[in-house]
Amino acid sequence: MAGIVVIGAGQAGSSLVAKLRTLGFDGEVTLIGDEPVPPYQRPPLSKAYLLGTMDLERLFLRPESYYSDNNITLRMGTPVTRIDAAAKTVWLGDEAVPYEHLALTTGAEPRRLPAAIGGDLDGIYGVRRLADIDTMAHEFAPGRRVLIVGGGYIGLEAAAVAAQKGLTVTVLEAAPRILGRVAAPETADFMRALHTSHGVTIREGVGLTRLTGEGRVSGAELADGSTLEVDFVIAGIGINPAAALAEAAGLTLENGISVDDQGRTSDPAIWSAGDCASFVYNGARIRLESVQNAIDQAEAVAANMLGAAKPYVPMPWFWSDQYDVKLQIAGLNTGYDRIVTRVAGAARSHWYFAGDRFLAVDAMNDPRGYMVGKRLLEQGKTPDPAALENPETDLKSLLK
Ligand code: FAD
Repeated sequence: MAGIVVIGAGQAGSSLVAKLRTLGFDGEVTLIGDEPVPPYQRPPLSKAYLLGTMDLERLFLRPESYYSDNNITLRMGTPVTRIDAAAKTVWLGDEAVPYEHLALTTGAEPRRLPAAIGGDLDGIYGVRRLADIDTMAHEFAPGRRVLIVGGGYIGLEAAAVAAQKGLTVTVLEAAPRILGRVAAPETADFMRALHTSHGVTIREGVGLTRLTGEGRVSGAELADGSTLEVDFVIAGIGINPAAALAEAAGLTLENGISVDDQGRTSDPAIWSAGDCASFVYNGARIRLESVQNAIDQAEAVAANMLGAAKPYVPMPWFWSDQYDVKLQIAGLNTGYDRIVTRVAGAARSHWYFAGDRFLAVDAMNDPRGYMVGKRLLEQGKTPDPAALENPETDLKSLLK
């Protein structure tokens, strides 16, 4: 009998197949990935792994033996080329694999700088796959000049690593400020000051006009007419959901692969989770690009494939490591109109509100602020802003 096939052996795919087994499913399970390695965690790619303080073995989510021990067929280095939804079959080149249920956990692809502005020169790197990092690692030598295009979390994390390794770092952000899409000005100000104190040059409100060089990038022309000499470039300009297979199979797309509250696509036998999947949350169709969402949504899909019929409700959280600062975020700040800042010793947190409703917290070296914020969100409680602002307040008292 055809079993469950999962396309995309990343964070969501590996969580999904593992959950199927812990839930007691004993049918055939096949996990197919195009990368040549077992599923691994991506966050360290722009942090400890890039810095060289974490080795390859620790990146893997589970030892390779886990999959055979649990009777999961793991196909690595194997791109799925087509889904025949009518025949319930996926195609790996000319090999057909039938399925009863199929899950798409294909993740996302980094946006590339267009070739028309020199984006196809050598010496320009994305930050998505292990292979991207291994290919660019040799560039991180002291004294070299790197231009990082994009002041989001991944660009800033790469900038922190480069600065710590003694490179000359420029971050270019076309929008008026860094972290514009994801964080309040207060958090951006804190991060900007942190980077500046480590010698990073952050240029905001300036677009990239063109990358120049003979075969290999050696310079950049910026929208304000200035130029920069560079040794290499990192593009951290966002991702697009990997939805080409789904589109070709005729599935409904809307900001990625559209799923219902159980994780089912427009084809009842096909499910999706992780970076590639969009779902309705608080009345809007969103995608979340985070480890937490990849795991929780994939586990919900595993249960629903087996008939649980349980809606997936995300409890968003995220983190970023830059220098000695750990930023932890709980909640989603969309629609906020007010920030409450709390500074207590070395701990700092920014609390997002929409009217009276508490939405999210950015906690910088403040694990307690993060933990309390997360618990408040889980309990649907709104803390008193005046109490939050007061450094004397014991945050845990807000949970009572
Ligand atoms: P992925 O992990 O990308 O897995 C998808 C897999 O599917 C990939 O291996 C892809 O190659 C494969 N695939 C695609 N198409 C096919 C096909 N046709 N055939 C076979 N295989 C295919 N999140 C956080 O919460 N905190 C962080 O600090 C953080 N830092 C990050 C740093 C970096 C550098 C990156 C890149 C991401 C970071 N993220 C972070 C985001 C997080 O890693 C992602 O949200 C998570 O990996 C999504 O899991 P996924 O399974 O949906 O996608």
